[in-house]
Amino acid sequence: MNCNGREVFRLKPEATSARALIAAAGLAMAATLTGVSSAQPASYDIVIRNARIVDGTGSPWYRGDIAIRQDRIVAIAPRLDGDAPRTIDAREQVVAPGFIDIHTHARRGLFEVPTADNYVRQGVTTLIEGPDGSSPLPIAGFLATVAALGRSVNVGMFVGQGSIREAVVGNANRPADAAERAKMRAMVEQAMKEGAFGLSTGLFYVPGTFTPTDEVVDLATVAGRFGGIHISHMRDEASKVLDSVRETIAIGEGGRLPTQVTHHKIIGRSNWGRSAETLKLVDDARARGVDATIDQYPYTASSTSIQSALLPAWALEGGRQQLLARLKDAGTRAKIRAETVRLLETERGGGDPRNVVLASCQWDMSLAGKNLADVSRQRSLPATMDGAADATLWIVEQGGCQGIFHAIGEDDLERILRHPATMIGSDGEVPVFGRASPHPRSYGTFARVLGVYVRDRKTLTLEDAVRRMSAFPAQRLGLHDRGLLRPGMMADVVIFDPARVRDTATFERPHQYAEGFATVITNGQIVYEAGSMTAARPGVVLYGPGYSK
Ligand SMILES: [Zn+2]
Repeated sequence: MNCNGREVFRLKPEATSARALIAAAGLAMAATLTGVSSAQPASYDIVIRNARIVDGTGSPWYRGDIAIRQDRIVAIAPRLDGDAPRTIDAREQVVAPGFIDIHTHARRGLFEVPTADNYVRQGVTTLIEGPDGSSPLPIAGFLATVAALGRSVNVGMFVGQGSIREAVVGNANRPADAAERAKMRAMVEQAMKEGAFGLSTGLFYVPGTFTPTDEVVDLATVAGRFGGIHISHMRDEASKVLDSVRETIAIGEGGRLPTQVTHHKIIGRSNWGRSAETLKLVDDARARGVDATIDQYPYTASSTSIQSALLPAWALEGGRQQLLARLKDAGTRAKIRAETVRLLETERGGGDPRNVVLASCQWDMSLAGKNLADVSRQRSLPATMDGAADATLWIVEQGGCQGIFHAIGEDDLERILRHPATMIGSDGEVPVFGRASPHPRSYGTFARVLGVYVRDRKTLTLEDAVRRMSAFPAQRLGLHDRGLLRPGMMADVVIFDPARVRDTATFERPHQYAEGFATVITNGQIVYEAGSMTAARPGVVLYGPGYSK
């Protein structure tokens, strides 16, 4: 007899005694439980029907059903038969791979909000941490803490060159000696074995800024040997941006590993338009065989600390006590102030104190949302650049703040976005809802690309935008089982309405979730639907290519 539920129940009437029926039911149950049935339609955990499938490759959407069993996509077809405890009617909405955010500062907030609502509600299912040269060390401890936390999203990380240098060389402005270099190389090796996806640098920041290029190449080579990539917050994104892109390419070329210009932007009005030249540098590098790529967030304002953005790096050498001592010395203070005026006029300051807005100040949360002109007025300082510079130094002396800097041109933004080697990354964090005044990119990056740059401005096609949020970053990270909708892939899936998707977070009111997303699935479990986060916490820790237990 065919050991199959349907066949069993087709027994002839004369054989259907009560005992035969009980035996048949038992057989059917056993067949289901052991999965031995072959002719019976497959059973799934979730089936998504009536989907416009945007599969991550960039190919045009196609219509179909998608079946998920446990944590994998197991079938995709124009019409799937079979049962599932959960059927989702996509009602002709777009079904895409869950988005992968290659540049996040998620450790700011993830432990307070492990559901990372701001990201999930815009379709993100994977967060990569450790950018800009900054990561916890050793990374194994951090990843273990994340693993112990029930979370809605997957988390992976880079190891930070700045953090390693700080541990070995401190905040000194000098090249590392041979012994220090050997120690740093060993730390990169350890991090790669612990699961880092590569080496991040933040050559703009202290202490990364004190690092000569060849020292970075030395460490990048180690990351490359383990299959990792290099991702760079460049030394200068303003007047010296071309040199910085050259350096990022040189690190990839010298270290023989893929290299990425992260959150590419052109800061300062006098530098606007230079993306045409930076992109040509990337094209030329790629033409000669350097694996160079880009990521970007879709906003014309950046966010970092006030002191990093508006004070010269030399003033920060050695740490806060030394900075405060320099500010107490009248001659040194005047030199710092002159540089601050210049940075306000031509670089991050955007030429107007109103273009610098305080996002959060730990020592006075009421300052969040105020701009430098407001602070100058509050402090009875003149409404001039000098007044704004004095307000800046006062803020730094109080303890510093996170700031938002409106100094990026829309033309550069769109030109970079259109480049085929540009992927999307938020550079965001996990805000505690309602607290402080963070950059809206944390809530809106992916929704904004889909709403503003796909639907409204038609800068990108929908399929190309999804590629830049899924398959492309997955390829970059070597996540070969994510980023595409195909049988066998991990079931990270997002369903959204392309006509309704939009970011609602603004600089004035950042704490607003994206709209238009119906369902988000991480590793085969629904983490968001019908406007709410679910109780599921299926996110896993992702380990890079050099990982060894
Ligand atoms: Zn950065």
